[in-house]
Parts: sequence; structure tokens; C-alpha cells
Amino acid sequence: MVAENYRDVDRKVGEACARSGRKREEVTLIAVSKTKPVEMIREAMDAGAEVFGENKVQELCDKYDQLPKTLHWHLIGHLQRNKVKYIVDKVDLIHSVDSLRLAEEISKEAEKKQVDVNILIEVNVAQEESKFGVSVEETENLVREIAKLPHIHVLGLMTIAPYVTDPEENRPVFRTLKKLAVDIKMKNIDNVRMDVLSMGMTGDYQVAIEEGATMVRVGTGIFGERNYSV
Ligand SMILES: *Cc1c(COP(=O)(O)O)cnc(C)c1O
Repeated sequence: MVAENYRDVDRKVGEACARSGRKREEVTLIAVSKTKPVEMIREAMDAGAEVFGENKVQELCDKYDQLPKTLHWHLIGHLQRNKVKYIVDKVDLIHSVDSLRLAEEISKEAEKKQVDVNILIEVNVAQEESKFGVSVEETENLVREIAKLPHIHVLGLMTIAPYVTDPEENRPVFRTLKKLAVDIKMKNIDNVRMDVLSMGMTGDYQVAIEEGATMVRVGTGIFGERNYSV
């Protein structure tokens, strides 16, 4: 089931790339495995999945220990400063940095472990009160401050679009994030790349790709509905 779902989503990612004149290699499909057991992750691996997204530090560390070290782990959920130390040497990318204090902690722990950490800035494009992330207006300043820190590289931006029934409703959100990344990239800030755009989830990843996503985070579409009550 999971393997079949993964192949299906992977194919749709390819189709969205083709529709928008983009190369398939430009878009990374992140299999969001939060709340799902390692057996299901293995099934996704069998279908070719190599990049997994988790939103909790403890869960990421548990799965990291149990699975092959060839996999790539991305932290996509809100990160507390006191947990940074557990993951800086395990993750390829942290998608959810939204404050200078958090970035400073990442930089400090990266220094201790002698690693470099890649991050994205989480932008609350739709200005939803329930969501983390900086505003569009604050983003450039935060990027400039974080760029000065050692052992940390700002690769781009991430957003969690609103939950909608028609994915077209989120097209303006994705367009706004893309434009923001282009605007910041043009400033040529040292240590800032702005090449990565993490946007699009199960309901809207194809639209996100059409609008320039380079990473899509798909959970339900691969692993099925999550059950938080158990
Ligand atoms: C859970 C989660 C996803 C995946 O959501 P689905 O709708 O299940 O694809 C993507 N991004 C973040 C940040 C998440 O927490």
C-alpha cells in the first residue's frame, strides 16, 4: 500500500514538473512519516523513498537509530531550543526556523558537534494565527541576521499553506513565497542561497510545484491518514 502510494505521488510530482517545464530532479519528494511506524518507512524505502520528514525531535531520533544511515532526515515541525542539541548532527535540513534565538542555538550546537547545519526560514505567508513562522515583511531582516552566524546556512524558505479543499486557493500563497525568495536572492546576502522552496503537502503539492516548489512534504498521500488518538 505505502510503496504503491509513494510511486503514485512520485509520478504525480513528475507530471507536475513536466506541466510546468521543470526538470524532475529540481523537486525533492519528502515522505512525511510522523506518527507512522518504521515498518511503513521501510515500505516507502522499497519504492525508492530516501528523504523523510518528521515534526518531533524524539520521534526523529528514535527512527534515525532504527533505520539505515543512508536515509536523509528533515525536521519539518516547530523546534524548541532545548531540543536542538539532539538533532543538529542527524538532519540534512531544518525547515522550521523562525527566530534569531533558535538560529543562535542551532549555530552554537553545530559548533560543539563540529557540523554545518542547513536551514530554511518558515514564513507564515497566509498570516494564520495558529501557525508558526515569520511574516513576509520580517523575513529579509531575519535572513540577514541569521546569515551572520557560523555553522549555519540559509538555503531558502518554507511555508505551511492553509488547509483548503480546492488547492487552487493556495496558489497565491505559493506565488508569494516564490516571489519573496527571488527578492531576497537578488540582494546577494553572504551565506544565503535562497534556492530551496519547501511548499506543498498532500492536498496541494502539484500546484506548489507549478509555482516553483523545490521540496514537497507529503504525508497522508503516502502513509494514509494519521491517527492522533492512540
Ligand atoms: C504533517 C506535515 C506535512 C504533511 O501533511 P499531509 O497533509 O499529511 O501531506 C507537511 N508539512 C508539515 C510541516 C507537517 O507537519
